[in-house]
Amino acid sequence: MTRGYNFCSGPAMLPDAVMQRAQQELMEWQGTGMSVMELSHRSDEFVRVLESAESRLRRLLGVSDDFAVLFVQGGATLQFSCVPMNLMGRGGAAEFLDTGTWSVKAIKEAARYGEARVLASTKSENYLRAVRADEFTASPDAAYLHYTPNETIGGVEFDYVPDSGAVPLVADMSSCILSKTINVDDYDLIYAGAQKNIGPAGLTLVIVRRSLLGKALPGTPSLLDYQAQAENGSMVNTPPTFAIYLAGLVFEWLESNGGVAAFERLNAEKSGLLYRVIDDSAFYSNPIMPDHRSRMNVPFILADESLNDRFLAGAQEAGLYNLQGHRSVGGMRASIYNAMPLAGVEALVSYMKEFEQRHG
Ligand SMILES: *Cc1c(COP(=O)(O)O)cnc(C)c1O
Repeated sequence: MTRGYNFCSGPAMLPDAVMQRAQQELMEWQGTGMSVMELSHRSDEFVRVLESAESRLRRLLGVSDDFAVLFVQGGATLQFSCVPMNLMGRGGAAEFLDTGTWSVKAIKEAARYGEARVLASTKSENYLRAVRADEFTASPDAAYLHYTPNETIGGVEFDYVPDSGAVPLVADMSSCILSKTINVDDYDLIYAGAQKNIGPAGLTLVIVRRSLLGKALPGTPSLLDYQAQAENGSMVNTPPTFAIYLAGLVFEWLESNGGVAAFERLNAEKSGLLYRVIDDSAFYSNPIMPDHRSRMNVPFILADESLNDRFLAGAQEAGLYNLQGHRSVGGMRASIYNAMPLAGVEALVSYMKEFEQRHG
């Protein structure tokens, strides 16, 4: 068995170079006589691993000291609760842009802590586009405005940063963090589960403006309190040490391959190639409004859906894995995060063309 190209939406492919490095270092890490997995999280060595991961991330995204960087657990899903717990205040309100499955889940959890207002939604249009800038105005009394820059399931991506006016802007960047350059100062809180574009599952990244710390609702567990995590260097308890080490290797790999700007160009090339093949054919289609198409998750359907199983089986034989669409959408979906090389997308489009020739 050889490693194929894994188009899974998450956990997703990790770079070969990172996997090889981890394999080399697995049994004994840098003269410590033990694996990095076996290091005490309080040891100087592990604290250096964590600090180095944080400083690489700060360099990659340009995160200033106005923000705390937290390595936590519970996935993006726990952040759906942590954000209101930390920012909403008692009986407060937050506002949301609804662009699909993940927005809806964030809204539902926030409603447990206060008022969750949907400012704008594309639900009536089957979520085939992002919300447009002229469709909402954040209310000054809201605790924050939350949106999902990339809807992983629908394959819808914002091509602009929403204007939240005077209120903090919160972004669930689980499936697009580090995929293009951003101005972190445009945001007040960014969170992301690691398993798409950062590293293995089990780690969640939170980048939060320090001025927002210290406002958690009474009763918030200290593990979920951003201020407690910031004060304790993400070590209120034992952090997911191996996942943090691997994330650090991914950050190092991104830096040594040109940084976020280089991956932004590569991601445009990869997604452009795939959408071109879809658009040039009557056999494949993607329904998302072109300006709002995701560069990370590319759903497509076959004109003849009875060929789905054959398409997937042939793909698997060609070493192209996990192309089935989400169960709520059907069809196919290719997730092409940073670690998916151009060669993987080239292999996919050549398989797609060949399949179309045989069955179209
Ligand atoms: C995958 C995903 C989530 C859920 O992440 P978990 O880490 O499984 O909780 C939330 N939001 C977006 C945008 C996602 O892509």
